[in-house]
Amino acid sequence: MQPSELSDLVRAPCKTCGAQLKFSAEKQKLSCDYCGNTEAIAFTKSKLHENPLSFRVENRQLPNAPTEEKRLFTCQNCGAKTTVNYDAPTITCAFCNSKNVNPDAQKTRLIEPAGLLPFRISKEQALERFRHWVGDSWLAPSDLKAGAMLDNLHGIYIPFWTFDAQAHSDYSGEAGFYYYVPVQVRDANGKVVTQQQQRVRWEYRSGSHQAFYDDMLEMASRNLSQQESQVQEASRYNLEEVVDYDPRILLGWEAEVYSIDLEESARKAEEQIRSREESACASQMGGDTQRNLTVDTTLTDQTFKHILLPLWICMYLYNGKQYRFLVNGQTGQIAGERPKSAWKIALVILAFILLVVFFYWLGKR
Ligand SMILES: [Zn+2]
Ligand SMILES: [Zn+2]
Repeated sequence: MQPSELSDLVRAPCKTCGAQLKFSAEKQKLSCDYCGNTEAIAFTKSKLHENPLSFRVENRQLPNAPTEEKRLFTCQNCGAKTTVNYDAPTITCAFCNSKNVNPDAQKTRLIEPAGLLPFRISKEQALERFRHWVGDSWLAPSDLKAGAMLDNLHGIYIPFWTFDAQAHSDYSGEAGFYYYVPVQVRDANGKVVTQQQQRVRWEYRSGSHQAFYDDMLEMASRNLSQQESQVQEASRYNLEEVVDYDPRILLGWEAEVYSIDLEESARKAEEQIRSREESACASQMGGDTQRNLTVDTTLTDQTFKHILLPLWICMYLYNGKQYRFLVNGQTGQIAGERPKSAWKIALVILAFILLVVFFYWLGKR
């Protein structure tokens, strides 16, 4: 059976030459690759409200994992027809490489994005960061060419959840304070000596702590793991700049729909808030040491938003080993693993051995 045609791809034809416009990170506008014409986008913030977390998933028909459902995609640029996943938010034509936005993809999920952070770092800037970063390390191999990374560098809008909550915690426990008493003991030779020994004075304490947690970020993509330190380092964003979701801002870029659902992410955010409350209560209780601390945290005014955030991802092979680096699409913060040059490492080891031998020789003299 022939899959049905994708209905409405996002169109933004250039008023001068008719080519599809793309969102430009440098210009912060829609821009034509062919004639240079630009078109402004009105960045609004009117749809960016918080949704109560009491929102519960009732309609279970919508998937959280990628669907197998296929659609027929007809390229507007070259006319080629291919089948694509129905829930692919952006489609790159396999024949002419044109990039398209499929707004239906978001409708395959229960919750559509409310906002996004437009890319600010262009491909060239991302590469420049990479060059700089590799160049920073003396151990980096000199034949690691940034130019070779060009094909593997992808600008992707990654789905995230953000959570807000007001936390109130009541705690009680015992704070311990150290003091020292002189004690007479016999030493190894049987002589009586005075020693200072540590004792703890316990004091019962209780109190309360409250805090508002704003925009706790949880990555909603299973392709990347937020637990990894690299990913964490590259995914610190200034969320003040989030604007209303407009599919035209995805033009020319790649995007993902979420694969980690609201409930799972909400649970993770809640755990984080509870553990932060626990440490806050512990530090408020004081003492040199503590015991029997119990913290009872109540969360109210819990809300969430679904947003897309920009990230450059590059996977590359060097000497048969796979490496990855990430560049934050808003701030340019880079994170990843740097390949090290084998002969430079050998040189460092050799220098070290020579040094050891030299000192050994000095000591012998
Ligand atoms: Zn044009
Ligand atoms: Zn095409």
